[in-house]
Amino acid sequence: MSNTGHGHVRPRPDGMRARCGGPAICPVCAREQEQMLAGAEISVDDEAQDEERALIEHIEQIKREFERAAKPYVDRLVYLRSLRVPSLQIPIV
Ligand SMILES: [Zn+2]
Repeated sequence: MSNTGHGHVRPRPDGMRARCGGPAICPVCAREQEQMLAGAEISVDDEAQDEERALIEHIEQIKREFERAAKPYVDRLVYLRSLRVPSLQIPIV
């Protein structure tokens, strides 16, 4: 992440924020927000972008592996819970 932008929409690594009022009233911030909502990467150098992409891919893969590994347990849990008849709990005061 680079030290660009006003820091309202995307936090800057240096933690700085411009005293501009943020995206509601500042055109620079508004543009940043627009680009962010459009999914555009702003001022990220190529190397960082490659690393980000690789990290995201890696995380996605771990998620898929986790889902695959967890599925039998989740299914079993759902089955066990479906057997349980919901009991009425009347609080005794
Ligand atoms: Zn601004």
